[in-house]
Amino acid sequence: MPQVLDRTKQSKRGTNKENKCLSVKMSSSSSSTPSVLLNTGVQMPILGLGTYKLLLPEDVCRAVDAALVAGYRAFDTAAVYGNEADVGRALKELLPKHGLTREDIFITSKLSPEDQGERAMEGALHSLSQLDLGYIDLYLIHWPGTKGLEVDDKRNPGNRAQSWASLEQLHAQGKLRAIGVSNYTPAHMRELMQSCKIPPALLQVEFHPQFCQTELRSVCEEYGVCFQAYSSLGKGGLVTDPIVTEVAKNCERTTAQVLLRWSVQQGVPVLPKSSNPDRIKDNAKIFDFTLSDTDMGRLSAMDCGHKFCRDSAQVV
Ligand code: NAP
Repeated sequence: MPQVLDRTKQSKRGTNKENKCLSVKMSSSSSSTPSVLLNTGVQMPILGLGTYKLLLPEDVCRAVDAALVAGYRAFDTAAVYGNEADVGRALKELLPKHGLTREDIFITSKLSPEDQGERAMEGALHSLSQLDLGYIDLYLIHWPGTKGLEVDDKRNPGNRAQSWASLEQLHAQGKLRAIGVSNYTPAHMRELMQSCKIPPALLQVEFHPQFCQTELRSVCEEYGVCFQAYSSLGKGGLVTDPIVTEVAKNCERTTAQVLLRWSVQQGVPVLPKSSNPDRIKDNAKIFDFTLSDTDMGRLSAMDCGHKFCRDSAQVV
């Protein structure tokens, strides 16, 4: 059973042993996917639907519908994706059809780099009103930088701190049930841990066999921060990789399932995006098989520091 963490016992720097434990409940009941326990005591499904580039309301609706049927209970959006309102509307329409309520689902959204700093409160409140679902389960600072500022601009650290303080306030008011960051480097994580009142619950970054993020994972473990993967399929670019294809053939699974299983088997939550209902269904079938130690090792040995997305070190 996952350990329920007592926030009053957590140290800000995560030195408390309990704070390091982010248990994964991998046995799935019939109605839910496995979940991870965040350091706020909130359970987050280990599988969520990515929604980047789901632009038309009807595409969002079709994808959310297929995902709810397939057992997804988490959805990842962001102010910059331009689809928060469509995701919120789709969920409000579709939850009753599937016999679900708001409390059954977990919504993540993110602060736009345009709103980093003094506009953070306004930006987060805008996300809340766009989604219109009462509260947001997890709200992240999307990027460490501020739109329009150079990487080495001295205002960036102050803007990050100001954004975090706004998120802390909204968390205290119950509007954001958990708060975290995305695309932060180890240096950004250390900076945040020095100044925060509430430690981040989660860090969302690119993670797949070609980009294993060893240092960042250790930093998250040290601070008791849940490490979450995005672009697990390499934006689609890894589904034809020869090593992944060979592993998939051996275990009679699709390459996408192998890539996602490699992550969740290490306790790292995933957010595969698809606009295709068959793929959405296929990508959820990752809890009824196990990759052997040999296959896990072969996949992890693909690590070559290759990124499919922007480099966050360039957005300091
Ligand atoms: P991804 O999930 O690695 O890959 C998505 C691509 O793979 C799409 O082109 C999709 O095409 C294709 N695909 C999906 N399932 C497939 C399957 N079973 N077989 C073959 N192809 C398949 O990429 P991502 O969208 O970059 O990452 C996922 C989510 O993470 C995003 O949607 C977003 O929510 C989040 N994310 C966050 C950040 C951040 O800065 N925090 C950055 C990137 C992503 P179809 O749609 O045609 O199926």
